[in-house]
Amino acid sequence: MFAARCNMGMAYYDTKIGIRHPSLKYDLFGKLVEACHKKGIAISAYMNVGLSHEEGLLHRDWTVLTPEGYSYLPNKMGNFFRKMCYNSPYADHLIAMASEVVRNYPVAGMFFDCMGIHECVGVECVREMKRLGLDWESHEVRMDFAHMSQVRIAKKLSGEIKGIRHELLLYFNGLAFEDQRELGSYLEYECLPTGGWGYDSLPVYARYARNLGKPVLNMTGRFHESWGDFGGIRTEASLEYDCLNGLANCMRTTIGDHFHPRGDINKAAFSLYKRIYGRLQKLDPWLDEAKPLTDIALLVPKNTFKYTGHSSLSGIHAASGAARILCELKQQFDILPEDAAFDPEKLVLLCDDVQLAGKSLELVRLHLKAGGHLISSAWSGLDAEKKEFALPEFWHLSYKGESPHNPAYINLKTGFAEDFPDMPLSLYDNGIQVEALAGAEVVAEIVAPYFNRGWDGEHHIFYIPPDKPTGRPALTMTPSLAHFTHPILSSYHKHAQVPIRQLFEAVLKRLLPRPLLRTSGLPSFARATVTSLPKRRMVHLLSYVPERRGAQIDMIEEPVILKDIKVELRLDNLKPERAYLAPDRKPLDFEIKPNGYAKLTVPEMPGHSLLVFEE
Ligand SMILES: [Zn+2]
Repeated sequence: MFAARCNMGMAYYDTKIGIRHPSLKYDLFGKLVEACHKKGIAISAYMNVGLSHEEGLLHRDWTVLTPEGYSYLPNKMGNFFRKMCYNSPYADHLIAMASEVVRNYPVAGMFFDCMGIHECVGVECVREMKRLGLDWESHEVRMDFAHMSQVRIAKKLSGEIKGIRHELLLYFNGLAFEDQRELGSYLEYECLPTGGWGYDSLPVYARYARNLGKPVLNMTGRFHESWGDFGGIRTEASLEYDCLNGLANCMRTTIGDHFHPRGDINKAAFSLYKRIYGRLQKLDPWLDEAKPLTDIALLVPKNTFKYTGHSSLSGIHAASGAARILCELKQQFDILPEDAAFDPEKLVLLCDDVQLAGKSLELVRLHLKAGGHLISSAWSGLDAEKKEFALPEFWHLSYKGESPHNPAYINLKTGFAEDFPDMPLSLYDNGIQVEALAGAEVVAEIVAPYFNRGWDGEHHIFYIPPDKPTGRPALTMTPSLAHFTHPILSSYHKHAQVPIRQLFEAVLKRLLPRPLLRTSGLPSFARATVTSLPKRRMVHLLSYVPERRGAQIDMIEEPVILKDIKVELRLDNLKPERAYLAPDRKPLDFEIKPNGYAKLTVPEMPGHSLLVFEE
């Protein structure tokens, strides 16, 4: 992919409509398309939609007017200080430029960038809101209208350019994945870990996006900091980890760069790509068409990955905490919206705040009736009004409102989780209160604090020891279901308490006794995913640790080399004749155990190992 028009609003192709970069003396984009075609490389055109600074500078009437009255925000160093309005005459100009590119160059597709949802009180937006009878003075209404405008411009763009060439590969960066179900040809997750995304978001978005029926690309970048950091370069291990982490989650890879407008080649960056892609290319036979294998369906509130006018980030925090716990435990899972149909064989994990009603209620009822297993936490499993558990015949709990304790402590029944400390452990975030009914075993109990945290007019009540057990459950279990009363998943995202993960692991051992993968000798920071191809099951093992360095940067400078990793893979119907390490096909001795698992030892793991069990 290469920029036909960048976020500065400059075109790099021969345009009759837009503004060509003033120092460009030839058709750079055209030359690149020609060069790629000679080598049999497909090339897509990049065009920024939400930003086009030079055009916005010359056409202030094309820019977003914020409700405070700014067409330029006060902080001019924020790249989004001036944004383009999708309802202004800019829309026709944008569509004309995109059509010009598609008509004049044999591009494989187009990537439209920075398609944010920006509320605007420019005259076109306000008049349309008035015409539609919308309350244009309400922030929520303006955001909903901006969201509608964002999807509408994407549809217009797609319609116009697909009318010129139908087979174009299209992606609209900034639209929710599900909003481009009918528009995008593939999905792409922009994730530059050092540029603000961090290393925890890829598994969450990958495991969600890969279930939406389209190929998913993992877009990382070569910059030490974020986009446009011309002089910044990633360490080889960190960039390679980004790529491998995506590949292990069944995403393909792109590495983003920022080309010098003079056409200079950055030799260090290109040599880095060559080394990394040179190694990754050898893995292709085990990556192409590989599908993830999973045991767990993690159901999240359906607005977690979608725009809602007044959405909070709690859904994504809970999904991130859950993903972190499951990744550290080497569990195989997909993330699905709460009303998605899931494979009845899977263990269902309802993520902190998933109420059951309508379709989700029916799906969960059928799952549990058929003997399926489930774990829920906090407000999950309640009815839509949060008045009572939606399926008390399976939860065997009665809802008693919000937890009155701040903080609450959890005390575990001895022997349930070996490593759990023998003490009341802090639950840092508020949850709910329940009463266990016949059929539910109370595994852990809530211990009340002496006082609640707060201010009594004289004292700040801050240092609060645990007092007495309350008799109220903190964790209950039935043979097929476990419920935690507190939001342990979003709490794990914020607080990362290892004992909470140990407790979760003990629950999983009961409810998922035969996971796809069991390992020993693989530390909590290592990651393991299972994928499949016809006649093959594969295990990716990854051992890279991001370390916080400086104020904001998480650094991976080298992989952590691990030795003697024991792996057991559930075979189901696979009858492997050989096991080896890809890509060298270095054979590994393995044993098929009577319990249906293949067992082997990986003598040394140099950061990434791809184990293959093959018929
Ligand atoms: Zn507007």
